[in-house]
Amino acid sequence: MSLIEDCVFCKIVRGEIPSHKVWEDENYLAFLDINPQADGHTLVIPKEHYRWVWGVPNFGGYFEKIREVEKKIEKALSPLWVEMKVLGIDVPHAHVHLIPHYDKEQKKEEFSEVAERIRNT
Ligand SMILES: [Zn+2]
Repeated sequence: MSLIEDCVFCKIVRGEIPSHKVWEDENYLAFLDINPQADGHTLVIPKEHYRWVWGVPNFGGYFEKIREVEKKIEKALSPLWVEMKVLGIDVPHAHVHLIPHYDKEQKKEEFSEVAERIRNT
């Protein structure tokens, strides 16, 4: 098995692992983190496999899309602010975390409800 065949995020892109998608275009995909730090915790990834965000060819275009997704989260979930975090060490496929912060403890919503709200914004 190659790295790309084994990669969890590549499997999500190929539909081999289910995910709660909130947005996608031909090059990028946004879906809910399976271990969310808050409702609407989203990952934005390039559909092609790159180890680090630094390797994504259209780096600026990638970050423009991340901002579009952030705007959707803001509109759909009304957080105080949305944190952007790039670590890249947990899954070896380029990804950026968008983590909404709320003014108080939010009732945990179902993934499918949260995803649908962002998707439909
Ligand atoms: Zn991958």
